[in-house]
Amino acid sequence: MTNTHYTKVLKQIRHKPAKYEKYLKYNVPRKRKFGRSVHKCRRCGQTSAFIGRYGLNFCRQCFREIAPKIGFKKYS
Ligand SMILES: [Zn+2]
Repeated sequence: MTNTHYTKVLKQIRHKPAKYEKYLKYNVPRKRKFGRSVHKCRRCGQTSAFIGRYGLNFCRQCFREIAPKIGFKKYS
């Protein structure tokens, strides 16, 4: 399942005011206090394979890509 932000749809329906209002009223997701969707990768928004340790807040795929840039070294 892909993870898209709900505001992406607003761009498509902004010229239809009635639909726009209806979407904002009924389709905005609830604010979560706990559960998987609380932890999202700050780079891509993915919820699985989340690394929150050391305040990273990346998914493992993004961490792999940017680890050398933010100063992680691979030993061995
Ligand atoms: Zn990510």
